[in-house]
Amino acid sequence: MKHLLLVEDETAIADAVAYALRAEGYEVRHCLDGRAALEAVDSGRFDLAILDVGLPDINGFALCGELRRGTPLPVIFLTAQAAESERVLGFDLGADDYIAKPFSLRELVARVRVVLRRGVPDTAMPGSKRTGAFEHDVEGRRIRYHGLVLDLTRYEYGLLAALLARPGAVLSRMQLMERVWGDALDSGDRTVDTHVKTVRGKLRAVAPEVDPLRTHRGIGYSLDLD
Ligand code: CA
Repeated sequence: MKHLLLVEDETAIADAVAYALRAEGYEVRHCLDGRAALEAVDSGRFDLAILDVGLPDINGFALCGELRRGTPLPVIFLTAQAAESERVLGFDLGADDYIAKPFSLRELVARVRVVLRRGVPDTAMPGSKRTGAFEHDVEGRRIRYHGLVLDLTRYEYGLLAALLARPGAVLSRMQLMERVWGDALDSGDRTVDTHVKTVRGKLRAVAPEVDPLRTHRGIGYSLDLD
């Protein structure tokens, strides 16, 4: 069962679209605005989003960027104006397709089918483990945060991977030293703290408003996802 997110403030259009898609066997969650859509992706997983460009609270293109912060998501835009600039902007944002109103339901259903079949090979890291806003490609030793691959040194990677393995658990400096620097000869007392600081800086560069790396004074560190 494929789960579709439909964000459209015109209920007549939304009802018709949702009806047509449900008739094809898709699960459809309808939201009237961007805020509701962001809440929906926080609580559920979707295979595709169909976004009206003219929403009451946020432009559909901006909403697309927000929806994709945590997870790769194919998007089809619906727009009232087929203006070339909108079209280009939509595709710059990685739109998977684009449909100008008025459109036939049959056409929309066909486009949905094509985009779902295509999947998201270019944005998803195969075999990676997702934890909150993090995606950990263990084999490739890469960690993605809010969709961006972090540029980490060997020990920064080890540190973040150790914390990601047990979200919310507090790991002491000693535990982290053993797990990450077990084979290093010249690591000093401040090694863990120094690396936490640089990792934190790299996370903040991606998402300045949150700090998932929590310091527990005198105890150690944890990675908190909420
Ligand atoms: Ca609209």
